[in-house]
Amino acid sequence: MRTALPLLLLTFITLARSLPAQQPDSASPSFADWFEDRALRLEFVVSGHATEHTIALQEIFEEPCWPENPALLLPTRQLCSTRARIYDAATGRLICQRSLDTLFSEYTTTTPATQNIRRAFEFVVRFPLPKAPVRLVLEERSRSYQYEQVFETDIRPDDLHIRRESVLQDEIHELKIAGPPQNSLDITFLSEGYTAEQAADFKADVQRMADFLMNQPPYNDFKDRISIRGVFRPSPEQGTDEPHQRIYKNTNLGATFNIFDLDRYLLSEQNHNIHRMAAQVPSDTVVVLANSKTYGGGAVCLDYCISTTGHNNSPFVFLHEFAHSFAGLADEYTGNVAYNQMYPEDQEPMEANITRNLNRETLKWRHLLSPDVELPTPELPQPEASQKQLVGAFEGGGYVRKGIFRSEQDCWMGSLRKDEGFCAVCREAIRQTISGHLGQ
Ligand SMILES: [Zn+2]
Repeated sequence: MRTALPLLLLTFITLARSLPAQQPDSASPSFADWFEDRALRLEFVVSGHATEHTIALQEIFEEPCWPENPALLLPTRQLCSTRARIYDAATGRLICQRSLDTLFSEYTTTTPATQNIRRAFEFVVRFPLPKAPVRLVLEERSRSYQYEQVFETDIRPDDLHIRRESVLQDEIHELKIAGPPQNSLDITFLSEGYTAEQAADFKADVQRMADFLMNQPPYNDFKDRISIRGVFRPSPEQGTDEPHQRIYKNTNLGATFNIFDLDRYLLSEQNHNIHRMAAQVPSDTVVVLANSKTYGGGAVCLDYCISTTGHNNSPFVFLHEFAHSFAGLADEYTGNVAYNQMYPEDQEPMEANITRNLNRETLKWRHLLSPDVELPTPELPQPEASQKQLVGAFEGGGYVRKGIFRSEQDCWMGSLRKDEGFCAVCREAIRQTISGHLGQ
């Protein structure tokens, strides 16, 4: 593909943290011993600025099934900005751990946050319904990459105030059901900015995006293990907010461009509503489709992603954002973000696809390096087909030009120039993430 870089650079972002673990460790607790095949979803609000914040629990919901792999209660790699740890209250044993990012953690790296302007953001934590009382501890990663406790609360599974009502209210499209949720990758698409008359358009867009994903390596190898569901809720108006253009639309999830004042950065800040809507079906991962022709999207690592559907490049944007929210991959491009030093200079990024380490014995993708490749690897202005596959360490990535390296010259996590899509390192990380979701 040969097109102008500024458009094709995917200049909307996320705290794209790393890969969840692929395999349970040997000490992993047995799901049947500790949990029911249901889920608890906790809705939180976090507010504050760069150096100070408060977390509060708002509501707890019970969901009718646990759709994730029951063997993966304790992923060995926990790599987002926040992790939730569930301890059995009686014994103190760690029985479950989840990772997530919050939009607040991204906000803390922006200029307004460093000027002590307080803002509030929503997030949710979901884990299987415990059989006995548990203690939930939230930990956040510091700038020195240590996890520090920021919140704790006790939860009794028989608490009468846990909300257990049916949440079914929307039109559900089961486009493709691969098998039982615990043994499948369940991708849920939510409608945003489609009016009641556009229900068929939404269904067609879900099909188009899902087909694009399932024909793209490495997802194509897992086609028969992926379930696709759409949840349709009409919006009063079509489209999405574009504040820089003075465009405001009344839509069911309130998605808006210009998050953190960036042109192409689209998100919904109604995190609680997103997950309430998704909870109507078994969901491992959530995608919001915004009915707009404007180029853009966004993602929050291991939480959800959003893309518009009406731009020629929308399918590529969707796959790029999905790689953040599903597989925890980092952006491989440089510049044009609202962050002030997203990656601390003295820390190795946790994501699978960027590094500060040029030692070929310890480089995280050393097993994929091309034979005798030079490190760092010089960029070629017009690489031939075989050179495009070269795996080395190209300088530039993670929003900076210097000091952070990516594995191939081009990859969809950096630009859309690579015809084949993702680089080998990203493909491997996505493949491992999919495998982790598939209970065998
Ligand atoms: Zn890549």
